[in-house]
Amino acid sequence: MKMQNLSSEELWDLVENLNFAQKVDRSLGLIREAYQEFGDRLVVANSLGKDSVAVWHLAKRVSPDIRGFIITTRFKPPETIRFMEEEVARFPELRVFRNDEPLPDELYRFDPDRCCEVLKVTPTRWALEEMNTACWVTGLRCTEGRTRTDYREIEERDKGLIKLNPILLWHEREVWQYLALHQVPVNPLYAKGYRSLGCVVCTQITSGASERAGRWAGTSKCGGECGIHTRPLKLSSPARSPAQGN
Ligand code: SF4
Repeated sequence: MKMQNLSSEELWDLVENLNFAQKVDRSLGLIREAYQEFGDRLVVANSLGKDSVAVWHLAKRVSPDIRGFIITTRFKPPETIRFMEEEVARFPELRVFRNDEPLPDELYRFDPDRCCEVLKVTPTRWALEEMNTACWVTGLRCTEGRTRTDYREIEERDKGLIKLNPILLWHEREVWQYLALHQVPVNPLYAKGYRSLGCVVCTQITSGASERAGRWAGTSKCGGECGIHTRPLKLSSPARSPAQGN
């Protein structure tokens, strides 16, 4: 795939001026092109949030054979665990990865970056490696918050690993529009008022401009990132043992 040379201004112009149908077509086109190039080595990262389930639905329209992975942690809310089990039952081609290695008590409170590194970034590396991934597909969107304004639809942050962000240009409203039109099941936590979902100990219900303001609220990481979009993913990670989840 060709890397994009869009300036930030051009990108935001597309965010504001493409209509909903044009954005859907563009997203499908990006996934289709990547699937033609990478085939089975294209893998969707499914966080079970609204953006991920929209991308997963788009990918399934391109090919029912496309595979995906879910990263789960010991701190996921019960609603997310139940939703994950339902999704995996519906789509057995979704693999679940989880790191069960011991951690200091309340690490998420005094060093959330380290906690996310162990519980989220490390199993993401396992997933990408074990699924022989050449191109991973995410639900990242540039209007989500302050940390997500500088991405492109096609990236190569790690050499040899393409990252495709096919709904980068979508507004929050357009994600809900897509999910409603296609009657895609969503995590029940949205009905309680959450706008961005994560581990139960680090996520709050908030209102206001930033979709991600409820993530790590009250810490220096507020509205920030777990690291899977910012940390290198092709580092040589320690080989995982069977005790470290599936
Ligand atoms: S979101 Fe919180 S609990 Fe979950 S991995 Fe990150 S710091 Fe740990």
